[in-house]
This record gives sequence, C-alpha cells and structure tokens, in this order.
Amino acid sequence: MDTESIEGLIKLRRELHARAELSGMEADTAAYLREALSSTSPAELREGIAGNGLLAVYDSGQPGPTVLLRCDMDALPIPEDTDLPYASRDPGASHRCGHDGHMAIMLGVADFVAGSGLARGRSLLLFQPSEETGEGAAMVISDQAFADLEIDYAFALHNMPGFPINSVVVRAGAYAAASRGLIVSYHGGFSHAAEPEKGTSPTPAAAFLMLELGRLPQSATALEDNSKVTVIHANLGSRAFGTSPGEAVVMATLRSYTEEAMKRLADRAVGLAESLGDTYGLRTETSWTEPFPATINDGECVRIVEEAASGMGLQVINPGRTFPWSEDFGHFTAKFPGALFGLGAGEDHPNVHSHRYDFPDRILPTGVGIFEEILQNLLGTGSDR
Ligand SMILES: [Zn+2]
Ligand SMILES: [Zn+2]
Repeated sequence: MDTESIEGLIKLRRELHARAELSGMEADTAAYLREALSSTSPAELREGIAGNGLLAVYDSGQPGPTVLLRCDMDALPIPEDTDLPYASRDPGASHRCGHDGHMAIMLGVADFVAGSGLARGRSLLLFQPSEETGEGAAMVISDQAFADLEIDYAFALHNMPGFPINSVVVRAGAYAAASRGLIVSYHGGFSHAAEPEKGTSPTPAAAFLMLELGRLPQSATALEDNSKVTVIHANLGSRAFGTSPGEAVVMATLRSYTEEAMKRLADRAVGLAESLGDTYGLRTETSWTEPFPATINDGECVRIVEEAASGMGLQVINPGRTFPWSEDFGHFTAKFPGALFGLGAGEDHPNVHSHRYDFPDRILPTGVGIFEEILQNLLGTGSDR
C-alpha cells in the first residue's frame, strides 16, 4: 500500500475516532460512512440496518460465492481524558475498543473492491452497530434488509493488544466465550431500622446470592467448560440509618466456552436466586441482558484466513485456547460458516476498554490487506475475468 493510501486510512480512522458514539446511537458515524461508501459506487447501499448499520453490496454480476466482511461501529462509555488532536467530541464516549480502526479498515476494503472490481460472486461489507452491548449482530440478522441474503462465508477481525504487531491470531472451534448479564431484583418490605421484624429485608438473600453465584461453576459445569460468574454490581436499601431495606438488586456476568454449559449455568443461577428469595419471603424478579453467544470458528474459514495471512507473509498464531471475552460476531458464526480472527496490536499495547487504549494506526494497512487477500482468493478481482 502506498504512503498516500496509508495516510488516507489514518485520516479516516481519526475522523471516526472523533465521532465516537455509544451503542445504538451511531448516527453521525453512519452519516460519515454513508458519504465515504457512496464514493465507492456499490451496487447497493442499504442503510438503517438494526438502527444505524450500513451494508454495501459489491456484485460482480457473475455466479460465485457471497462473502460477508463485518466491522463494528460503536464506542464505549469511557471518558476520553487524552489531549489527542482527534479526541472524541463527546466527553462521555470514546473508541477504546478500536472499532474506529475496524471501520477505517473496511472503508479501505471498499476502496479496493471499487478500484479492482470482483471477478465472481458478491462481497458484502457490513458496518454493524451496538457490538458492545451484544445486541447489534442479532438485530442485523433479524432485520428485513439483511434477511434475503444468502451468505457463504463471513469474516471479521478484532485488533488484539498482547499479540505481536500485525500477527494474525486464529483458531478453529470455540474462539470467544459466551457471556450474558443476569439482573436479580428482590422485593420485600421496608420498615423502621429499630423494627426490622416488621418488614421483609432482602439483605440475607442478596448476601448469600453474591457468595453463591461465584461458586456456581464449581457445581454446575465441567472443568473444561471454563465457566465463571462475576458479581459486577449490587444495591441494597438506601443510605438511611433509620430504615431497614425492602429492595435489593444483584447483577452478575456469566461466562462459558460452550452454549450448553451456559444454559446450565443460567438455569442454575435463576434457580438459586429464586430459592433464596422464597426462603426469605421475597418476590424475586430475574432478567437477562447483553447476551453474547460463543463465537465458534468454522474450520474451512479458518484455513482461508491462514492462507491469506501466509500469502502476505504474516505471522499466524494459534492461541491454543478460547478467549474469555465475548464478541457478538458469534451470532454470525452460529448462522453462517465464518471466522473471527485477531490482528495483533503489539505485545505492550494497552488493552482494549482501558483508559490508555487508542487504535494503533500502523495495523490499518495489514487489516485492509488481509481482507483484500481473502476476497482475492475467494472471488478474484476484475483483472481475473
Ligand atoms: Zn469492546
Ligand atoms: Zn471491540
């Protein structure tokens, strides 16, 4: 890639960085992308998918496979306390997961496809909203504007601090864990703190629940399922020394490497919450949020990624384990043959979701290059016609 193209990518990435928007609110970002994609003259540009999502369709007009490449659009509710010249304009939102970089890479791919054309089949470039809340992928898949598409291969990348710069991190099978958030609300009765017996305090139920949730994986799942339950928030009564509490909320994140183990863990967690509520005379409500399925990589798709990476002379790393974090690309791999792979962001690069994180611009050309190579291998370019 020439210097001018690389500088163009960096500029795009920084423009997108400054527009950081939270999940479901990516309107400015979508407007910017629409403008950029229009200049690549896709056969179709579908907008408003799952809210602010966009899908650019590039069609060779010839028979052949349909290849979906997906990137994510949303930022995180982490304040940007840097003095970067391209710092987020919204003080409450910042691109601390690198989705700005993922979008810039995809715009680079759009330019490539527009410039060289495809020899066969179709390429779909998807800009997906609301990845961080685990909602976007499922919403895209159930959106009418997406439902008529038959997809043969689906690929996505995520930048990955902790791995050598520009390495490709991929493996077949379970790649990223399933996770979901549990919210337990206990409703009892308030009373004067001098007479707790006249109310129904949720204190013991909430306390036991917090302790027992952490122990659930021990009794509910097998060692190899690598399950974990983390209590992330709790609230009990109010800061009023004269009042015995009548309400409590406990929230926890459940994680597992397989869907079966997740289901078992989830059922047991709800059963535990309800039985503790019953024991202490409380009304119990449970609900779920941010459900991420496990991301299961297809063997053939992994081979395609490995081949593309080797073709570019990149180091391919098999992490030899499932990553404990979650990615909603799992919804795509559950429906289509697909693979999620990591693009090394540097061993010492600050981790995603941390205050010091900023997408490393020097992996932009590699990201574009690997997607180009995948498209070239599966669909050929116009010059192959
Ligand atoms: Zn993230
Ligand atoms: Zn991310």
